[in-house]
Amino acid sequence: MGGRLLYRLSDRLGGRRVVPALDAMLERQSWDPSRLAADGRRRLADLVAHAARAIPFYRGLGLRGSEAIEDLPLLDRRTLRDAGDALRDPDAPLETLEVATSGGSTGAPAAVWLDRAACDAHTAAVLRSQTWMGLPLVARHALLWGPPPDVVTYGTFSGRIRGIAARRTFYPTYGLTDERAEAIRRALRRGRFPQVVGYSSALDHVAAGAAPLERPARAVLASAEILTPPQRRRIGRFFGAPVFERFGCNEFATVAHQCGAGGMHVLTDRVHLEILRPDGRPAAPGEIGEAVVSDLDNRAMPLLRYRLGDALEAGGRCSCPLPFPVFLAAHGRMTDLLEGTGGRPISPRHVAVALETGGETLEHQLRVAGGHLACAVRPLGRFDAARAAVSLQALLGRPVEIRMAAVIPRWPSGKVRPVVREEERA
Ligand SMILES: [Zn+2]
Repeated sequence: MGGRLLYRLSDRLGGRRVVPALDAMLERQSWDPSRLAADGRRRLADLVAHAARAIPFYRGLGLRGSEAIEDLPLLDRRTLRDAGDALRDPDAPLETLEVATSGGSTGAPAAVWLDRAACDAHTAAVLRSQTWMGLPLVARHALLWGPPPDVVTYGTFSGRIRGIAARRTFYPTYGLTDERAEAIRRALRRGRFPQVVGYSSALDHVAAGAAPLERPARAVLASAEILTPPQRRRIGRFFGAPVFERFGCNEFATVAHQCGAGGMHVLTDRVHLEILRPDGRPAAPGEIGEAVVSDLDNRAMPLLRYRLGDALEAGGRCSCPLPFPVFLAAHGRMTDLLEGTGGRPISPRHVAVALETGGETLEHQLRVAGGHLACAVRPLGRFDAARAAVSLQALLGRPVEIRMAAVIPRWPSGKVRPVVREEERA
């Protein structure tokens, strides 16, 4: 498997065990679903027992250690900030731990301490997903990544040096303009990258309306933002390659990854995922709920039932042989859900699809001010605002004013901001 040697070397130099972690993962994906599920339950029970015994936060709750995961309280970023070191195993030597920062897109970040097993598993999961995309472990790739310049390290001198070994060419996409998108498009045509990885919106901005690549990529990986069906179509057409979606976060890295048959497979040998309704019960197939994740690898700071704030649609099945369960779709942030006709939750993904009746749009943003709804739209070519307004009204159960916009403001993190509530603007 291409690239294995590089990781063996990096394991040896860095005292890591990524290759053994990868081999264990490749072995587990040949298991049948019941064996995989039983192993996940065993590891989860072991983790709950460890938390009750060793972690001050959980000891303070008076856990016995034999509780079912569903009996534990939910954690969120605020808990993480407030509890701080009480969530860390005091016996875990600090010098062996690494820090991941919980996403700060919509709030202050908090630190998550990862032990080596967790770090190795994070990397190994990324490598395993390369095989799902039909790629070598290390493939020459273009990275279209959009955080602010002071956050992202790929563009620094040392980042570019590391990029040589990883076969990465980095294209920053923060504040991406049409001119910059055109420059990236030209570079991609020249570069002939087998793999392209990027923010969904950046991949789409480069792909939309352009003639397809003369030399198609082999796989495109969209991440960090929701990937709407129109975006997927435009990206696939431009790159001439299958488009894969990755769902994850800083705290747990990859949580789910798409396979070649299109299923969003949950990496249940890495995480336990619950999709919960507002009443705390599991979402039924077709229902949208919040992603709540427990990390099976990290004993230094066991995050059990950690609320990601992301909306997932439960259910679905996949025709491929992987034993990992699937969910139907990622719908973006919970805070971006609106109440639609009949109380049904409406996500930016639904809005993007409804807007298609008017034509193609590169980006949209709903503005909610009291009872008034407006949708800013950045169209691609001709756009029939009246037809789009009718579709949105049917979706949301109230009139929506469509406004054309040349630029749609984003979060300071550089990610798309599909919903703005006027009361938040202050
Ligand atoms: Zn599959």
